[in-house]
Amino acid sequence: MGIIEKMRLDGKKGFVTGGARGIGKSVALALCEAGADIAIVDMDIDEAQKTAEWMAKETGQDVFAVQTDVTSPDDVNQMVDQVLARFGRLDIAFCNAGICINVPAVDMTFEQWKKVIDVNLTGVFLTAQAAGRIMIKQGSGSIINTASMSAHIVNVPQPQCAYNASKAGVIQLTKSMAVEWATTGVRVNSISPGYIGTELILAAPHLTALIDEWNKIGPMHRLGKPEELQALVVYLAGDMASFTTGSDFVADGAFTAF
Ligand code: NDP
Repeated sequence: MGIIEKMRLDGKKGFVTGGARGIGKSVALALCEAGADIAIVDMDIDEAQKTAEWMAKETGQDVFAVQTDVTSPDDVNQMVDQVLARFGRLDIAFCNAGICINVPAVDMTFEQWKKVIDVNLTGVFLTAQAAGRIMIKQGSGSIINTASMSAHIVNVPQPQCAYNASKAGVIQLTKSMAVEWATTGVRVNSISPGYIGTELILAAPHLTALIDEWNKIGPMHRLGKPEELQALVVYLAGDMASFTTGSDFVADGAFTAF
């Protein structure tokens, strides 16, 4: 068997949070193209359903949508129950849903702080925990959490202390779960993308106004594309990565390299 065949995910079942659009949608497509069946998990059920129908048609895989708020333990448990009812097992969890609020630390309200931490850090904890519980019973599985280059640097000029703190938390959460579960067959890794052209940036005028400024600093002088993260997650999801756990993978066009 050649290396490309060895990297395929045929027969594997998974879910992607924040899968309706952006990075989640792009990675979910790649997981399906590699042979996995995937649940598109998102708050926005209309968009998630559209994405799931399109992806099923495009790839011939079993893809369905589940409405879930990742900050709710009940929602997350119900989502995992639906995935198990449909697929019978869980091999891949891409815990990716996230938001950003750009407010200076001195002005940030408790509600704004809590919202970002709840979605980006608690949401990843709840979804990875629920996935881990099933995968430990199975004796196998791969969890990939979306952190950010903001876990490694403080972005400028936009203020985003809660986002940066939440993403740094995702990396330590990932490492902690990886160590606790290292002998169970369950691997846990994170990815740290640089600026990627999704609605998170492109639908926010206060951020699109900064793209030229970021591109001046970034050595590649451009935003990344969601599809430039696909192969990394497919690799981490598959059995070829069996010795890779507790690591964070930066894909940022060298933004944090200097
Ligand atoms: P998008 O805003 O394009 O997509 C995020 C998706 O997550 C949306 O569909 C959104 O649904 C969903 N979502 C938000 N909150 C929740 C929730 N509580 N429960 C379930 N789903 C939710 O963002 P990206 O694709 O760019 O971002 C994906 C991840 O990548 C995030 O964690 C982000 O922090 C991270 N990241 C992004 C970078 C970038 O430059 N774009 C860089 C580094 C990391 P809805 O429409 O209903 O809000």
